[in-house]
Amino acid sequence: MKKTAWCFMILALLCCIIISGCDRNALNTSPSSEDLTDNDSTRKTNLLVHFYDVPETEDKWGDCTYIEFPNGENMLIDIGVKGAGEWITKDLVSQGITHIDYLVFSHFHADHVNGYSALIKEISVGQVYSTGYITKQFQWVLDDIKDRNIPHTVLTAGDSFTVGDVVVDVLWPTRDLVSEMPTLDANDNNCIIDTNNRSFLLRFSYIKNRLLMTSDLFIEAQNDILEMYDADELKADVMKVPHHGYDNAINRKFIEAVTPKYAVMMGNHVMTRVGYNRYASVGCKTFATWMNGDVWVSFDGENIEVWADNEEIHKYYQ
Ligand SMILES: [Zn+2]
Repeated sequence: MKKTAWCFMILALLCCIIISGCDRNALNTSPSSEDLTDNDSTRKTNLLVHFYDVPETEDKWGDCTYIEFPNGENMLIDIGVKGAGEWITKDLVSQGITHIDYLVFSHFHADHVNGYSALIKEISVGQVYSTGYITKQFQWVLDDIKDRNIPHTVLTAGDSFTVGDVVVDVLWPTRDLVSEMPTLDANDNNCIIDTNNRSFLLRFSYIKNRLLMTSDLFIEAQNDILEMYDADELKADVMKVPHHGYDNAINRKFIEAVTPKYAVMMGNHVMTRVGYNRYASVGCKTFATWMNGDVWVSFDGENIEVWADNEEIHKYYQ
C-alpha cells in the first residue's frame, strides 16, 4: 500500500509540473497588457454612418450622411436644402462637431448642397470632393469654397482615396461625362436628369465590409454602371437607396448585383410597395428616414449593426 501511495504522489507531482508548465506556456502566449489595449481600441474604432432624418417640412428636405472613420476623421456627404442644413448644423454642433475633414457633394442639386450656406457659418471644412459637374445656379458654392481657400478636388471613376483603413473608390461618373459643364438651366428637366445621372457612386471598403453610396442615380446610369463593372465590384453590405426611393431609380438588376443586406432611403418621399419589395426580394432590410427617423450603421470590418429611431416602416409595407 505504501508503495502505491508513493507512486500516486510522484504521479500527482509530475502532473502538477506538467500542468504548471502548460499554464506558463499559456501565459507566455497570452496578449501583453499593451496588446490588450490595442485590441480594446480596435473594438472601439468602427466605421459609423449616420443617415440623417430631416424633419418633414417644405423647407427641410434632402440627403445628408455623416460618417465617422475608425481613425477619428469625419465626412459629410451632402447637406440637404437650406432649412435642412440649418437643422443638421445645429445637431452637429450640439455633439461638439465643429470641423468636417471631408465634405462631399454627390451632385449639385438644392436638396444636396443648399444647406452648405448654414453649415459653413458654424463648421470648418478641410477638403471638398465633388464631381465638378455644375450649373451656373450652384456656382456660388464653389466660389465660396474658393474664397475660404478650402481645397476642392474633382473625382471621377477610377479615382480613390483612403481614410485610415477605409478605402473610398469612385465608381461613377466617368471623366468624359463631366468633361463639359451643363448649359441648360438647373431646373430644366433634361438638366435635372443629366445631373442626377452624373452623381457619385462611392464604394467604401473597410476590411470585409462594404458600403455603397448611390446619390441620385437613375435607372439609366445604373444600367451603364452595370455594363462597366462586374457584380462582384458592386456588391455591398449596405446601400443608400438611389434618388430617395423614387421609381425612376429602382432597378432590379442593380439591386441584384449589389445584393445589400441593408438599404437606407433618405428624404421625405414614400417608396412604393413595388420598390420596397424589389429590395426585400434579395433579402435586404430597407430603412427609410421618413418613417424610421435617423438610421445608424456601424461596421467593425466584419459585422454590421444597424439601428434606427423606430421600426415602423416594416409594419407599413406588411
Ligand atoms: Zn436628391
